[in-house]
Amino acid sequence: MSAAVPFRATILTLYPDMFPGHLGHSLAGKAMERGDWSLDTVQIRDFAEDRHRTVDDTPAGGGAGMVLKPDILAKAIDSVADDNRPRLLMSPRGKPLSQKRVRELAEGNGVVIVCGRFEGVDQRVIDARRLEEVSIGDYILSGGEPAALTLLDAVVRVLPGVMGNSASGTHESFETGLLEHPHYTRPQEFEGMVIPAVLTSGNHAAIEKWRHDQAVALTKERRPDLLARPD
Ligand code: SAH
Repeated sequence: MSAAVPFRATILTLYPDMFPGHLGHSLAGKAMERGDWSLDTVQIRDFAEDRHRTVDDTPAGGGAGMVLKPDILAKAIDSVADDNRPRLLMSPRGKPLSQKRVRELAEGNGVVIVCGRFEGVDQRVIDARRLEEVSIGDYILSGGEPAALTLLDAVVRVLPGVMGNSASGTHESFETGLLEHPHYTRPQEFEGMVIPAVLTSGNHAAIEKWRHDQAVALTKERRPDLLARPD
């Protein structure tokens, strides 16, 4: 099964060689070869105007580091055809990425992703181009590229036809609002530990109940915040 409209990702970056990175391998790589999704990059530096091809400047008000210039970045963004794809900016200040947002993005025709570098990007280009800031977690990366690859990894694997066994998406951690139950496989005994008997009982209702109970217990212990969350 192939997606009706292939999902298209356009990445604006100073490091286009970082793409497709790991997404050229395994299931995502095969799906790309099949044409279920595509990725292209725009080198932000190509839009610089001086002979040093400058893309950054010192922060107004002083302080450490450099800031991506709004005029150069806006031109790079405007070079991408406006086909109503969401325009994201990878940013630690953004809304934390969730599996819900991943599913929403996968239902669309693609994404345009701006990768920040240095101290970040000038606020005016975020406002003027209505960039949606997205964070992949409460830690600071050196650039938006690994964050963009992470977001795309999550999105591509839920595109129709990408995962071999499409059912294996629905019980996973976060899809049900719970962390997933533990998994076991052969051998029956490993270093003195045996597979929980219920899993080899053949009683499917009992197995489902055990898995659900385990998922609830694990979530209560490790991520009580998930149980309190409305979505
Ligand atoms: N000075 C900024 C951090 C800049 S890190 C601050 O304190 O908020 C440089 C770039 O890396 C950012 O512009 C962003 O594109 C990317 N980045 C860093 N951490 C990220 C995260 N947790 N999620 C998404 N992008 C991140």
